[in-house]
Amino acid sequence: MTKITFHNEWMAPDGCLINGEWIQSSEQFAVLDKFSGEKVADVAAADRKMVTTAVQIAKAAVDRGAPPPHERGVVLREAGRLLEQHRARFVGAMVAEAGFVTSDANGELDRAIITLNLSAEEATRLTGDIVPFAASPGAHNRIGFTMRFPIGVVCAITPFNSPLNTVLHKVAPAYAAGNSVVLKPSAYTPLTSALLAEVLLEAGMPPAFLAVLQGEGDTVGAWLLEEQDVAFYTFTGSTRVGRIIQQSAGLRRTQMELGSIASTIVCADTDLDRAIPKIANATFRKAGQVCTSVQRLYVERSIAEEVAARLVEFAGTLTAGEPRDPASRIGPLITEAAAIRAESWVQEARAQGARVLCGGQRNKSVLTPAVLVDVPDEGSAWCKEAFAPLVSIRPFDNFDEAIAGANSTPFGLSAGVFSQNIDRCLKAARSLRFGTIQINETSSARSDVMPFGGVKDSGFGKEGPWHAMREMTEERLITFNP
Ligand code: NAD
Repeated sequence: MTKITFHNEWMAPDGCLINGEWIQSSEQFAVLDKFSGEKVADVAAADRKMVTTAVQIAKAAVDRGAPPPHERGVVLREAGRLLEQHRARFVGAMVAEAGFVTSDANGELDRAIITLNLSAEEATRLTGDIVPFAASPGAHNRIGFTMRFPIGVVCAITPFNSPLNTVLHKVAPAYAAGNSVVLKPSAYTPLTSALLAEVLLEAGMPPAFLAVLQGEGDTVGAWLLEEQDVAFYTFTGSTRVGRIIQQSAGLRRTQMELGSIASTIVCADTDLDRAIPKIANATFRKAGQVCTSVQRLYVERSIAEEVAARLVEFAGTLTAGEPRDPASRIGPLITEAAAIRAESWVQEARAQGARVLCGGQRNKSVLTPAVLVDVPDEGSAWCKEAFAPLVSIRPFDNFDEAIAGANSTPFGLSAGVFSQNIDRCLKAARSLRFGTIQINETSSARSDVMPFGGVKDSGFGKEGPWHAMREMTEERLITFNP
């Protein structure tokens, strides 16, 4: 049965989108307000048959061919305009279902518009390369170039912590490159994706090119992995689930944006007036639920106490609580269980001898911003991904020690270095094994145009529309022998 019911104040459809229609099913799941815990919507979960139908329709669409590139660009740009027009609905949905404070929700929407516009531009300039045959003795007269073609059905599986912009970092480049997309958003944050799908359809995306399948990972997600007509999986989420997807993908290509423990190194010559607000923002934004959030802060010993004191002072200005209150800077974590876990890590650190300089107190799913010092290597707050508003400071005497420490985790997504010393900066660039090294920035300073992605257990493949479109296309070589 097809219907749109709007059981929520943002008028987000509560079904699954297949071929332009919102479909209900017998399975429903509740979407909760992450601060109050109250139900804000029931959403229909896709059943097994809907998953196959969605993939088949997407496959037939991409086999027929997408509209020409300039038309795809127009659609994506128009979607950006519509996002702005519907800002209040998107912000309202994200505040409720993701628990973002309004400034974080607005920031997510601002960046989503940039991602759409970048993808629109790239839609019209997706080209290949000229092959320098002159370098091949005997073949120097040949002419060769590559062309890029859509890869097919792109399946996007996305996390809760960036329910708009991360979704668009997959959907927009996929369509810009001429692919069809089957999207499975996080079951914590399905409404933002439903709103986005409406905007994309209204902007003119052909219905067969976009499906939204709502539901849990171990059902709908797992069923999507069984669908052999999916040509490409683009995934952002935990390393645990990334491994599952990679195993099912076999010879099919994937893009894996996975977990992280991000470090930032602060040298003694740092301009702290400039650095401290950046570090605080990169630590506590979205209640620390950002893959590049500063979790480890290595600080040169001579300024370690000052940095700690200034961070504590800054944290003291950040009100944690009701995300709708304009004064709030830190909203709830995604579940109360996540907050209980993070609180227990702070308590564990204290029991292990760490100093808890501030924060770590929990009220339901809200945790006050925590600054810790001297967490031992085996402390959970130090050696496991926190995804919570807490940072651990570790003083260092020797720059190499800080680099080795940052490199010592299984992850490698992003690192930041504050220093005025060019030799140290270049050494960091050469020696830190991360996908991104940001000098005089924190680990969490992503711009949407950047080639963004990790190494080691943080995954592989690059996002950023130009880069993602290369991942999501097949490159074909054409040669001429005159
Ligand atoms: P998650 O791995 O639990 O879930 C991500 C998505 O995978 C969800 O849509 C979920 O339903 C789905 N899923 C779960 N089990 C599945 C299965 N068996 N088969 C198919 N799909 C399945 O991650 P999360 O808790 O939503 O997000 C937090 C994680 O995401 C953190 O580890 C964080 O570091 C990571 N993250 C990484 C980046 C990056 O760019 N590297 C960005 C944001 C978040």
